[in-house]
Parts: sequence; C-alpha cells; structure tokens
Amino acid sequence: MQKLKILFQNNRDWVQSKISKDATYFSRMAEAQAPNYLWIGCSDSRVPANEIVGLEAGELFVHRNVANVFPNTDFNCLSVLEYAVDLLKIQHVIVCGHYGCGGVKAAMESHQLGLVDNWLRNIRDVYARFKDELDNIPDQNDRFNRLVELNVMQQVLNVCHTSIVQGAWMRNQLLWVHGWVYDLANGTLKDLNCCISSIDQVEGIYRIYVAGQSPTHTQTT
Ligand SMILES: [Zn+2]
Repeated sequence: MQKLKILFQNNRDWVQSKISKDATYFSRMAEAQAPNYLWIGCSDSRVPANEIVGLEAGELFVHRNVANVFPNTDFNCLSVLEYAVDLLKIQHVIVCGHYGCGGVKAAMESHQLGLVDNWLRNIRDVYARFKDELDNIPDQNDRFNRLVELNVMQQVLNVCHTSIVQGAWMRNQLLWVHGWVYDLANGTLKDLNCCISSIDQVEGIYRIYVAGQSPTHTQTT
C-alpha cells in the first residue's frame, strides 16, 4: 500500500493543472533554470518563499534553514551561494527572516533543545552584539521582533563578507544583497533597507580584496 497517498494524489492533480494551462510547462522546466534571485529564508512551514513573492518554479533559487542563518563556515550555505552567484549569475540575494520565528525565540531563552542549540548560537551572538539596544526594549514581543530584524541584518553582512560575493563585485558582476522580514500575521514583506551592493559598503576589516585587485587565487609557495 502506498504511503502518504494523499500527497501522491495532490501531485497528480498538480501535474494536470499545470499541463492544462501550459502543455509545455514540464518540458520547459526540464531544460534549464534561470532564476534571478537567491532566497535565504527560514525553514518554517508558514513561509513559502515562491508564494510570498509570486514567483514560479525556476524563478527563485532557495536555501532555507532554521532562523535564516548564514554562518561563514557552513558549507551548505556557501555552496548554495557560490552556485547561485558564480554559475546561475543571480543578481539579488534576499535574506528573509520572519516575525514569530521559533528559532530566534529559542535563542532568547535558556532551554536545552539539542544539536540546534549550537546553530542558534549564531543568533545569541547577534543578541550579545546588540545587547544594549535589545535590553532597553521593555516589551518582550517588541524585543523579539527587533532581534528578528537584527538577525537578518547580521546575516546580510555575513553574506557580504564571503569571498564569493566580494569576488563577484570585483569582477563587476551586479549583485545586491537585501534584508527583509515577513510578517506571518498579515502576509506582508518589510524591507529593512540594509541593502549592500558594493565592496565600498563593507567594513574595512572584512574586505578580502583591495580596489583593482584581481579576484583570482594566487599560488603561494
Ligand atoms: Zn523561523
């Protein structure tokens, strides 16, 4: 007996609905993808990336993890970013958090959850960095919302601190890194206006390349 029968039935219905509107839909999909955006979002089931921004399959390259974190040592994140920027030549990276994020909430509390505690450490670091601002917010929910926003802004910086993004800028590849927050309660997106599009906007210590330097690797002996 087939497990999860309902999902296979849903799949057949979906295939039929796509074909009825566009007979070439799947043959086109099978050929190639040409997305112009990379979405780095939370794994939360209430934040369906494509739906939120009204994009079809093939139009949005997606990476999701708990609390939309982009650690500089995570090979999953880095591999997705490299493929999106270097191979797909996407022009926009969107880091999108969401209010009511369970991952961010967990990082504000002292509970032992397991392996994920180490992942959430990235957000505890954001809290520690902005402790003065956050501790001065009297309402707990407002403080939670603000940490959601600060986490997005920090992950935007983390993306921009990679050799991948800076290398693209040095090759004069157009690339914008945006920070947004999705509101579960009303479905709207908020632009945090922290967009970065050139190495000039990156703090000096995080600049891997200097102006005029070729972004190719050099062999050292
Ligand atoms: Zn979340």
